[in-house]
Amino acid sequence: MNDICQSYKDELQRLEASGNLRKLPSVVHDGKWVIDGGRKMLNLSSNDYLGLSTDKALRQEFISNRMTEECLFSSSSSRLLTGNYTIYDRLETLLADLFGAESALVFCSGYHMNTGILPAVTDSTTLILADKLVHASIIDGIRLSQAQCVRYRHQDYKQLEMLLQKHKDNFSRIIIVTESIFSMDGDIAPLYKLVDLKKMYPNVMLYVDEAHAIGVRGDNGLGIAEEQGCIHDIDFLCGTFGKALSSVGAYVICRKAIREFLVNRMRTLIFTTALPPVNVAWTYFIVEHLSQMKERRNALNLVSSRLRDALRVKGCDVASESHIVPMIVGKSSDTILKAEEMQRKGFYVLPVRPPTVPEGTSRLRFSLTAAVSEEEVGRLIEVL
Ligand code: PMP
Repeated sequence: MNDICQSYKDELQRLEASGNLRKLPSVVHDGKWVIDGGRKMLNLSSNDYLGLSTDKALRQEFISNRMTEECLFSSSSSRLLTGNYTIYDRLETLLADLFGAESALVFCSGYHMNTGILPAVTDSTTLILADKLVHASIIDGIRLSQAQCVRYRHQDYKQLEMLLQKHKDNFSRIIIVTESIFSMDGDIAPLYKLVDLKKMYPNVMLYVDEAHAIGVRGDNGLGIAEEQGCIHDIDFLCGTFGKALSSVGAYVICRKAIREFLVNRMRTLIFTTALPPVNVAWTYFIVEHLSQMKERRNALNLVSSRLRDALRVKGCDVASESHIVPMIVGKSSDTILKAEEMQRKGFYVLPVRPPTVPEGTSRLRFSLTAAVSEEEVGRLIEVL
């Protein structure tokens, strides 16, 4: 009898043979460590960049100041029906105030954000110009949209300029899409340059995903846009709460008209249950504290630059300028072996392979957090 799953099994075997088969890891968490098969390892694969989710005192402060009616574990409905608890409005007002912007809108996740905004604000007369290395969620958003799209070479702003010149009169609107800190390489887009380019044309907008920068960069932790002084020049300034902010959800900082338009047109906002109020309250609590977290940001910068410098001394080509520090190995099978070796030595580093990164660029991705001490990064460098 035919096995209806045979083609899936064949594909899984192909993935295994090429070293690209994925499995859900079953590790136990213990603060900044993870325990796997009895081995305790320093977690260098988490996006908890400020070390907030390992901070028990902070969690305790949040919980002990919370009334049970605020601790709702479900919103039981979409925001457009009865799920729009007051804590949502409070968080959006807080975000808009912090960024000095007209408005903010909160979503269930970065994936909802990136797959929802672009399809809502574009049509077949729109052209999207996206960096070649933008995150999968942005690519899915582009695919779901009616817009045409050209991907420019990673950080090649000469090519972007040429594309703008060529297409400026052929579309009613062009949207440039980039990340600020790129998730797999840790390099940083010069947003001020993109702002200059955009300002040359009346029909060009700028969409920036700061998922990996919010909390960790800028004087008040508002991201690369704050660091580079261009918050007010970005039309869709996006970020997520699930990384440095140790929560869940995402936001866009934008003009009022854009917010209102999204509320009416964005399917991933309209047709999903809103985040539980308790999560939104925790996000509010963290965002309120963000400007006071300079020490954590400084500690993270320090360990990150030590690791980047050490890898460069060892001859590695390190494009990173942030706390995401990849070490390119090349073949997936070699990368798996290298990751296993690091784990045996007490460092929980995972191999990042295609399709997350381009073929032939499999890598160890060191994702540093403020909880990693200088001594620990020193040991890591020795082991490398
Ligand atoms: N944008 C970027 C750049 C990301 O790296 C990620 C997740 N790694 C997301 C969006 C998705 O965010 P979330 O995990 O909140 O869905």
